Amino acid sequence: MSTALNGKRRILIAEDDRVSRRVLEVFLTKWGYEVLLAENGKQALTILEGDSAPRLAVLDWMMPGMEGVQVCRRVREHADRPYIYILLLTARSQKEDMLAGLDSGADDYLTKPFDAQELRARLHVGERIVDLQDQLIDARDQLRFRATHDALTGVANRGVILDALRREWARQVREGGSFGIVLADLDHFKNVNDTRGHLCGDAVLQEAAHRMSASIRAYDTVGRYGGEEFLIVVPASDSLGTLGLAERIRLAIAATPVATKSGEVYVTASLGVAVSSNAQPFDPQTLLQLADEALYRAKDHGRNRSELGTPMEAPGAEPAQDAPVKSGSR
Ligand SMILES: [Mg+2]
Repeated sequence: MSTALNGKRRILIAEDDRVSRRVLEVFLTKWGYEVLLAENGKQALTILEGDSAPRLAVLDWMMPGMEGVQVCRRVREHADRPYIYILLLTARSQKEDMLAGLDSGADDYLTKPFDAQELRARLHVGERIVDLQDQLIDARDQLRFRATHDALTGVANRGVILDALRREWARQVREGGSFGIVLADLDHFKNVNDTRGHLCGDAVLQEAAHRMSASIRAYDTVGRYGGEEFLIVVPASDSLGTLGLAERIRLAIAATPVATKSGEVYVTASLGVAVSSNAQPFDPQTLLQLADEALYRAKDHGRNRSELGTPMEAPGAEPAQDAPVKSGSR
């Protein structure tokens, strides 16, 4: 965070000379910063590597133990952390020194004795850079979210949920065990769109996705597979466990009508379940096909129900490993 809870920007001053440190502290406090102080390079590094590091730092070059440029180099090793704008203060005025300072990863430097207004102006430049950096990261995160999530419902998109399925299959091939999938399709959804309009249909899809997400375990994934069809990947689960999850989802969707702007809409779902186990492994494509067939059987048998599309495991065939995820335990 570049600002503290009180809205002030936080800044570190690292300066071994007590008088200079005090002068800097007075100026920066007057200019509205929340000031953190370090008396040497080691203290400065501890603060800058900490969880709530300030995003601006003024480092004296010459300090006992660890010099400002060394602190700078160490901070720059953490490329994954939020960017810290670093201004070096130095009594040295020769050009080579300045170049060495910038080479260590400092953003700017100022020679002592410094002009207060110049320091202030340069810190404003630092604030702009830090803000731009944050905006870029925000924009990148938003793009990343949009690229991986369904825009309407917020669950994983088709590409991501199919990746999750392929990953589970790869894991099973590598490590054994079993996993399941659930294909869920809202019943008579076309009627909702036709009689209530598409905005109402969208609201129903959003609420259904929300209820599915609330019914799964932390390590399961819900994705939008098609129009009103959702795919749930269920790691480390056997037939009973996956059927149990499908039933939980079915009940959550049917339990109460969805409140929309055009009134309450009763909606149900039909669900097809398929499980791949050591004894009966199915690759992703086959598993999807079997779940799809089970889903159509659920539709044929009257809708608002779950059907298993793969053979139930023989009793005791998949011991221990699947025990914690049976339906009763979640
Ligand atoms: Mg010094």
